[in-house]
Amino acid sequence: MNKKRLAIIGATGSIGRAALDICRTFPEIFKVMALAVKSNLKGLKKLEEEFHPELLVVFDKSAASSYIPFYEDVKVLAGQEGLMQLVQEELDHIAFASSGTEAIFALAAALKKGIEVSLANKESLIVGGPWIMKMTSFPDQIRPIDSEHSAIWQCLLGEERNEIEEIILTASGGPFLHSSYEEMKNTSPKNALKHPTWSMGAKITVDSATLLNKGFEIIEACYLFSMPLEKVKAIIQPTSLIHGCVRFCDGSTKLLLSKPDMRIPISFALSYPKRLKMGPAFYHPRITKCDLDFLEIDESKFPCYTLARKALQMGNAYPPIVVGADEIAVEAFLTGKISIVDISPLLEKTLLSYNGPSDINSLEEAISLVDFGRREARKLCRLFSERR
Ligand code: NDP
Ligand code: MG
Repeated sequence: MNKKRLAIIGATGSIGRAALDICRTFPEIFKVMALAVKSNLKGLKKLEEEFHPELLVVFDKSAASSYIPFYEDVKVLAGQEGLMQLVQEELDHIAFASSGTEAIFALAAALKKGIEVSLANKESLIVGGPWIMKMTSFPDQIRPIDSEHSAIWQCLLGEERNEIEEIILTASGGPFLHSSYEEMKNTSPKNALKHPTWSMGAKITVDSATLLNKGFEIIEACYLFSMPLEKVKAIIQPTSLIHGCVRFCDGSTKLLLSKPDMRIPISFALSYPKRLKMGPAFYHPRITKCDLDFLEIDESKFPCYTLARKALQMGNAYPPIVVGADEIAVEAFLTGKISIVDISPLLEKTLLSYNGPSDINSLEEAISLVDFGRREARKLCRLFSERR
């Protein structure tokens, strides 16, 4: 059997490392051909030494210029051009596991070229969903990695779209599920980074604590599965064993249950339509031992969740603004400049400061609105931090 020739963008991150763990476990199935990172040279060096890919991309140009490859035959490229060149290599599959919006053009190019893609990066869908989805050249070209979207995707395999009544994503509720507003207001970044069920990068962990992440996932689900907002909701499932549910018109509901380990949805995205034999360490506890309680989301306590939904309702110009503003707000929280409860008003004020068209027509305009969101949020962060 020919090995699947794989590239991983965001190789040193939480998802990238988990994807590489799958490659490490199944070397007879995957050959790592290319890796891309932003600037973590030390991490990249270790991966180069272990996987010996042919191409490396270091997005940050100054970092790239100081990288000395471990192997002589390895090509090192930099910047946006580097990512675009990676897509043009002879590959069977690209995993988009970087954070931020920078890989969005590489994603667009990969889709147009007709390569299978597994997608963890949520920013590209939230910002560019309306255009990105139209660039796909065959069904299931985009294989979602995010556990909730993977669950919905798996529940929908073999089903008719017009028979879906409702898509339900689950949320763990994060570290503040049972905290009061006052406790949240005074919480430290360290506490917000203690996620009860998942181990993830810092940005998404904070987004999970405010539940903005769940609002973002609703937007992604609407785009990925071509569903109207009113048919997509989220509920809390504190043990993160059920990842998503689909309710159908005949009264049946499918649910997907697995251990909260990102390597499970990643393995399915990389190996679809086959499943990999992951082994007993990945099996969930016996069903009788699984706590499968569900709760409604308290929107008064988690206003970021509602705000993300509202942004999509207001028009396709608004989600990119939230993405840009949230990047700045989370950074300000992590560096002690604002409280976690400031994130929602800060995002809302950023949205209100926009007076352009509600609906835009191109990916380029969407990207420029991310920048608008960042700029406005920076100004607001200064005001919020002066008030502390
Ligand atoms: P991390 O912060 O752990 O890692 C980010 C990775 O992306 C790093 O390897 C970083 O490189 C790389 N990177 C950033 N910008 C670029 C760029 N322009 N070009 C190439 N590489 C780049 O993030 P996560 O792994 O947690 O998340 C990645 C994405 O997946 C996010 O969009 C997140 O929302 C989504 N996601 C994550 C989940 C999780 O469990 N972690 C679950 C579902 C979705 P460097 O190390 O050099 O900075
Ligand atoms: Mg998720």
